[in-house]
Amino acid sequence: MGEIAETAIIGGALAGLSLAYDLVERGFPPSALTIFDRGDAHRGSNAPALMMHPFPGREVRLRRDQGAFFVKSFKRMAQWRERFGEQQWWRSGTMVRPITDDDRGQLLYDSWQKVHHDLPEPIECQNMEAQEVNRRYSGLNLSTPALVYEPAAAVVAAPLLKHLRDLLDAKGVRFRDEAVESLDGTQEQGWTCVTSGTRWIGERVVLAVGSALADYFPGLDLRRRAGELLILQPPDSVRLGAFVNVKKHIVELADGRWVLGSTYFDPTDSTPRDDRVVIRALKNGVVDVIPAVEEAEVVRIWRGERGVFGSDDMPLVGPVPGRPGLFSMAAFGSKGLLWAPAAGAALAGLLMGHDNTISPHMDSRRMSADKWGRDHQWRISAR
Ligand SMILES: Cc1cc2nc3c(=O)[nH]c(=O)nc-3n(C[C@H](O)[C@H](O)[C@H](O)COP(=O)(O)OP(=O)(O)OC[C@H]3O[C@@H](n4cnc5c(N)ncnc54)[C@H](O)[C@@H]3O)c2cc1C
Repeated sequence: MGEIAETAIIGGALAGLSLAYDLVERGFPPSALTIFDRGDAHRGSNAPALMMHPFPGREVRLRRDQGAFFVKSFKRMAQWRERFGEQQWWRSGTMVRPITDDDRGQLLYDSWQKVHHDLPEPIECQNMEAQEVNRRYSGLNLSTPALVYEPAAAVVAAPLLKHLRDLLDAKGVRFRDEAVESLDGTQEQGWTCVTSGTRWIGERVVLAVGSALADYFPGLDLRRRAGELLILQPPDSVRLGAFVNVKKHIVELADGRWVLGSTYFDPTDSTPRDDRVVIRALKNGVVDVIPAVEEAEVVRIWRGERGVFGSDDMPLVGPVPGRPGLFSMAAFGSKGLLWAPAAGAALAGLLMGHDNTISPHMDSRRMSADKWGRDHQWRISAR
């Protein structure tokens, strides 16, 4: 790397810290890196549990480099497990996807038939009879076969993020727990981030702001998508032993509680979301195969928001066209764990001038400068 470019990352959650970790690992001087975070309670990274598995969509397929990214992100998680220990935040498991007797099941089965001979290591996926699934996983009661695959994991992001932050902090990265209220790219020195008390000036700014990216670029089809997760205390004797994804997904945490999710709606929708309706919608998504959810006690409902790029539902990672020194690391939708750790590594490579491994499917430059907008100044209001 030539001269050190003072760099700010706005957003210190899964995306921002993944990137910061890789920058520092590659030798970027920690003291030249500042991370701003305003601690949004509704951020996706605060979810009580996130699923990590290779096929988070309706089908078993690995399009748009998904397989390579899953493998890279999974390896990065393995490194973090090794480094920080895994007790508080990681649970490995097996994913069970019932091949239901409807169009959804057919789609799942057809997609599996096309790819199951050709899955990259370490992914393994088999078609298992209902009886065998029920025998192995006592909390399940399937009447149809299921796809059963590994690796899969339930991740509680908050403790992981704390480990990452502590590590970066100890190395000398500057953390500022404040909202960046405005961003100005018109000055010769580069970029200015203004908070309520101070201003930071430097050459590069990375927007790792989650769903707030929509505030910055109204010309792009960026959507905030809210969602709910249900935390359940199952009846005493019931253990799932597996993660399950039918119409909804359910994970069993190390302490025995279940997290059932998730809903998906526009947060500006004014229809009030009654708790009973949310609970019913989520339980209905799995009750056919896990009867015990009916008796499970509701501990609480968690509500959060993810940012989605509506045009192709892929992340936006890399330089913002037409705005030298500005970068995006956002729009990870409902697949933050699958994309963000690997995307952080790719963007760090680019920022360090080492290599460019940003997949063309998620490269921010697939959208033109016109779409990103040509104004060089924003007033960003903290919501
Ligand atoms: C209901 C629900 C279920 C989900 N389930 C899964 C799942 O099972 N598996 C999975 O992989 N993913 C899942 N996701 C998605 C996942 O949570 C996100 O993709 C991921 O957490 C995004 O991380 P991020 O760092 O990009 O954004 P966020 O977690 O939203 O963090 C953005 C950060 O930027 C900060 N910020 C924003 N603006 C400013 C500003 N102006 N100044 C300072 N700081 C700022 C915020 O405070 C926040 O800390 C789910 C999301 C939701 C909502």
